[in-house]
Amino acid sequence: MLKTVRKIIRQSNHIVFLTGLGSVVECGGRDLWDSDLFYSIEKEYKMCPEQLLSAGEFSSRKERFYEFYKKEVLSYLPKPDETYEIMKFLEDEERLQSVVSFNIFGLEKLAGINNLVEVAGSVYDNYCPKCLKTFDVPYLLASRSIPECDECKKALRPNIRLLGERVDNDLYTKAAIECYKADTIIVLGADLGSSKVQYVTGHYKGENLILFSKEEKYGDRFADYALYGSIKENLKKAVL
Ligand SMILES: [Zn+2]
Repeated sequence: MLKTVRKIIRQSNHIVFLTGLGSVVECGGRDLWDSDLFYSIEKEYKMCPEQLLSAGEFSSRKERFYEFYKKEVLSYLPKPDETYEIMKFLEDEERLQSVVSFNIFGLEKLAGINNLVEVAGSVYDNYCPKCLKTFDVPYLLASRSIPECDECKKALRPNIRLLGERVDNDLYTKAAIECYKADTIIVLGADLGSSKVQYVTGHYKGENLILFSKEEKYGDRFADYALYGSIKENLKKAVL
């Protein structure tokens, strides 16, 4: 399997990566849906992470939203590892068409990758809904309660998709077009069975949908090839 995947990647010139939480966790990021963490958050906040990161919570209980967001999300931001360096390397070699990120952790941008579609938004993009001025993560973390615009005093909005909000159709269309143009798609720790991923991969016309994942999932049947174990280690073996 690895030999075949290696050969496919070597012959590909329009690779599209789809990144999910699996590759984020390997960089030290948190998966709030991991059962132990999910349970401890539910116990502490009396709500599950999905509710705490929902549009309803943001609009009606901003103080609690930001308390949770700053403490449990922004305080644990991961740094890109070799997985992201490999994607950057392929971009420099002009063999990477783009990366479509299904998570909010912005690791691709930190790794310097330019051809990027962040369909779920990014924790690094925060803005004032009134004047559209942007603010970085340290600014949010330094705020005492609800972070506000330093000019118009409006509560800031993190540019991530909250539960209950519509998906950004323009971004999904862009991601689908990238997949349509790809010769090879490499999925890193994303669930191929999820409807959002399926919408995007559904536009792929090739036969090289390669999955790198820590462990098997039901949706893996949509992959043409699957490699299990450390995403980073397997990707190194398949590309370098
Ligand atoms: Zn403002």
